[in-house]
Amino acid sequence: MAEKKGLALHWQILIGMLAGVIFGIILKNFAWGANFINDWIYPVGQIFIRLLKLIAVPLIMASLIKGIADLQDISKFSRIGIRTVGIYLLTTVIAITIGLAVVNVWQPGEGIPPEVMNALAEDNAASGAKKVAAAQQQSETPPLQFIIDMVPDNIFKAASSNGNMLQVITFVIFFGICLLLVDKKKAQPMMDFFDSLNEVILKMVDVIMLISPFAVFALLANLAAGTDARIFSALGHYAGAVVVGLLLMVGVYMLAIAIITKRSPLGFIKAISPAQLLAFSTSSSAATLPVTMERVEEHVGVEKEVVSFVCPVGATVNMDGTSLYQAVAAVFICQVIGFPLDLNAQLTIVLTATLASIGSAAVPGAGMVMLVIVLEALGVPSDKLAFGIALIFAVDRPLDMCRTVVNVTGDATVATLVGKSVGKLGDPHVKNWDDHYFEEEEAA
Ligand code: ASP
Repeated sequence: MAEKKGLALHWQILIGMLAGVIFGIILKNFAWGANFINDWIYPVGQIFIRLLKLIAVPLIMASLIKGIADLQDISKFSRIGIRTVGIYLLTTVIAITIGLAVVNVWQPGEGIPPEVMNALAEDNAASGAKKVAAAQQQSETPPLQFIIDMVPDNIFKAASSNGNMLQVITFVIFFGICLLLVDKKKAQPMMDFFDSLNEVILKMVDVIMLISPFAVFALLANLAAGTDARIFSALGHYAGAVVVGLLLMVGVYMLAIAIITKRSPLGFIKAISPAQLLAFSTSSSAATLPVTMERVEEHVGVEKEVVSFVCPVGATVNMDGTSLYQAVAAVFICQVIGFPLDLNAQLTIVLTATLASIGSAAVPGAGMVMLVIVLEALGVPSDKLAFGIALIFAVDRPLDMCRTVVNVTGDATVATLVGKSVGKLGDPHVKNWDDHYFEEEEAA
């Protein structure tokens, strides 16, 4: 593993990120700089993201089938399923409540000079309109369509797109349960096959991670070269409210880890930090998924059957960071356009942001599309809505990076909590990463 030799992996990634930002900012000053990064540096990042996405479907298949087969008993699986959904919903509602509290106390929408707002909204009018159009397409689907969509009609078709993760999971659960139902001797070769496949795929994650410091360098250099820092001062309060809310949410996770698992929350964060840094660099919980699964299984010590169900489902439906951001952004836009929000409206935000975050795809910028649906549910008129989306568009990417970190942290936390609650939280397989991790357990 990369972190065994020399500098720990999370430091390598962090250094890569910082170097990338500095490199991007320097090259931005040259007329050829941004193009050079885009043509010659950025491809390293693109290849890295592709590699991670490449192994997501086989990883879920191998580890979930292996996990269910290891359970020996189907009733245990339903316990894991019910707890996962319950805790996911709970964390999402907590996240939205934190978002609403911060934005209502902070009031970031007050006092922005109208000329600054208009200029920002004008600059991003076309990009904002695209998000609104994408949201309209989404809201036209019938209410139960998402359940129908969870059932694949062709497994090869389902497995051919990372956007169909839930379909793959449905097939794999069905397959795994039937594997438990057939004669043990007949099932064994299949189990051995998936066991071995799982090992190989986990090794692939390790190998891909070797280039992660270079990949994040490339991704962040590209981003820094294309970002206008002046925007941050105009939308600073809004961005600040989102970031403070997200930090508070991370505090909630750490508290839950400390109280429920009795382990060191800092040790937990350190264990999953490479996944968090990748989430930040890629803005995609789907691309980060293989690393999240590997960290939670090997470095936190949650058993495969829990990780392989909870993490992929979480990457698809549990987005605490996104829901928190949607709550803050919705209220911010309403403050800016002078749209009053009573208690009922705030409750509508809790409900719609929960659904909107479930419906958001785990890819960059998806949360903003679903924000449109939250604003529509509040009754914001369409011209004002388009103005609001265009207004916040300029800072969306950096906030997307931050909320994706929280999305991934939430999935890892819930996997650990569910693991603890069903007796499937053991020792990490990789123990050398933090000697303090067991401190509290040993003391107990
Ligand atoms: N980028 C986020 C994710 O992949 C989704 C979003 O909020 O846009 O988790």
